Amino acid sequence: MTTPLPHIDTLAVHAGREGVRASGVHALPIDLSTTYPLPVLDAGIDSLDAMVQGLAPTGSPVYARLHNPTVARLEEAMATLEGAEESVAFASGMAAIAACLLTLPADRRHVVALRPLYGGTDHLLSSGLLGHEVTWTTPKCVGDAIRPDTGLVVLETPTNPMLTLVDIAAVVAAVEPIPVLVDSTFAPPVIQRPLLHGAAVSVHSATKSIGGHGDVVAGIVSCDGPRAALLRQVRIATGALLHPLGAYLLHRGLQTLPIRIARAQATAVELVARLSQHRSVETVFFPTVAGCDPDGVFDRQMSGPGSVLSFDVGSREVAVQVMSTVQLITPAVSLGSADTLIEHPASLTHRIVDASVRDSCGISPGLLRLSVGLEAVDDLWEDLRLALPS
Ligand SMILES: *Cc1c(COP(=O)(O)O)cnc(C)c1O
Repeated sequence: MTTPLPHIDTLAVHAGREGVRASGVHALPIDLSTTYPLPVLDAGIDSLDAMVQGLAPTGSPVYARLHNPTVARLEEAMATLEGAEESVAFASGMAAIAACLLTLPADRRHVVALRPLYGGTDHLLSSGLLGHEVTWTTPKCVGDAIRPDTGLVVLETPTNPMLTLVDIAAVVAAVEPIPVLVDSTFAPPVIQRPLLHGAAVSVHSATKSIGGHGDVVAGIVSCDGPRAALLRQVRIATGALLHPLGAYLLHRGLQTLPIRIARAQATAVELVARLSQHRSVETVFFPTVAGCDPDGVFDRQMSGPGSVLSFDVGSREVAVQVMSTVQLITPAVSLGSADTLIEHPASLTHRIVDASVRDSCGISPGLLRLSVGLEAVDDLWEDLRLALPS
């Protein structure tokens, strides 16, 4: 008989902590070793042989680039929250995405991708820096873009910065058996779990909501065991490691992820309502706004809209004025911090994307992206109201 998994709020508090209590401590241990004693050489060799194949150590971690127990605990916790067999942590979100591309077989290096994507991902794919060829398409036409050498389909939902939802299950069905990678950075596991909708790979820039405090750069991939083993091989070969101190902070942050997201998204919902009524705001973009969910997947795919919204103030001039006038809100890129951040995608996060692509994705000169934090809604609204032209 299998017992049902606890609620995700409970999992967030307890996942990846097995054995900690039994060891006589309460907080997670941090292992900063770069090397490990090997008094029994044969046992070390067995463990090394397992790790170079991307498997878990059978004994000693041998050397820090191969394995770290503190990072492994975080990975276990993330896999639990994502409903995945395994998770693999990287030095950044981009390192995680690059590793996913590097695991594709040599004869399957064609990637089909849906725009808009995070500027860095768009650039990595369109520049061919890692030797991949990309075909850009739309959710409706994704099946037609598949070729015999296609190895991966890449999408984001909600998209950055337009907050558009893509129907994960529909894309998966259209491209089967090609694996679909979903960058779910805008929707952490408490509100969206891509693997449950058929995606083969879920990626997070853990720098954002998962870290939640703006002090760790990290990326996490969740997938099945064989793919995780390949990703670990790439991580060992490239050294794109997450430092154990970062892993500790992320794991600690997971405990409050559900309440942070719940609070920030409730504030975001209220700000969307108020911004929509403001005469200087032309359009607001948010997963629950009709235009952002053309296929009506919100109820099926997400348990909440998240805490990022975008709004168009009509011109670059006004956008720059708002960004430079806010006092409480920090004018900065990134998202998912405890404090509220505002940025201008056309100038910053999506600057690296061709202007024509920006235009076709709706990343207009007047667009601002707001990552809502944990402040009181009335204080945030006052700050925005004073910065917007009346
Ligand atoms: C920030 C971000 C990334 C890149 O993550 P880093 O941790 O900065 O490398 C990838 N995808 C999305 C959607 C992001 O917002």
